[in-house]
Amino acid sequence: MKVSVKRDLGLQVRIVWLGDSSNCYSVKSGYKVLTEDSNVGSQPAYKKVWHKLVPLKVAVFVWQVLQNRIPSKENLCKRGIVDSTAINCARNCERVESSSHILFECNIAYEVWMNMCRWLGVNSVMPNQCITHIDAFTDLVQKKRGTEAGLRTIWFACTWCIWKARNAKVFQDKNVSAAEIAERSKLLAWNWLRIKSRNFMYDIAHWITNPVICLESVE
Ligand SMILES: [Zn+2]
Repeated sequence: MKVSVKRDLGLQVRIVWLGDSSNCYSVKSGYKVLTEDSNVGSQPAYKKVWHKLVPLKVAVFVWQVLQNRIPSKENLCKRGIVDSTAINCARNCERVESSSHILFECNIAYEVWMNMCRWLGVNSVMPNQCITHIDAFTDLVQKKRGTEAGLRTIWFACTWCIWKARNAKVFQDKNVSAAEIAERSKLLAWNWLRIKSRNFMYDIAHWITNPVICLESVE
């Protein structure tokens, strides 16, 4: 990680970004640091992770998913942080909580993705692996201008909301339903598009009722 923790004369802790000569963090320098070491940026699948419409923290999260580095119970067990007896999914489905289980395989995640497919007017069986899941999702709707970038934005929002709901369950014992996660995902994707895509002018009511038309104006 390209950060350094320093103490100034008043013994205040300062975190310094080392990914840029100015020591000021920027999305561009963050992207550069994350892609330069492992050369992941040159691989087509990984290129899908980085997109101007998606906040960097969410892109970083998905980048970690692709490398199986998120703190799932399975990964924490491999590092000796969690005991092997506590490795199962927090939703009592008696499956090992792996990255793909949390985001794609667990019943609640599967229901969320099915909800999103219905919203987009399609029926589809989705794969369980991250890369193929992104590909399948961005292929759901006939390609028109903006559609693929828009679908990718929805995919990131949905993946992020499933992860946040998982954390709410694990750390606060809060149950967020699949329907609620899906609604949060739609709202989050709309917010990102509204802020970052120049010609995206649709209000939330249009977005919720006819997302495919709205996607055509994404840039
Ligand atoms: Zn589960």
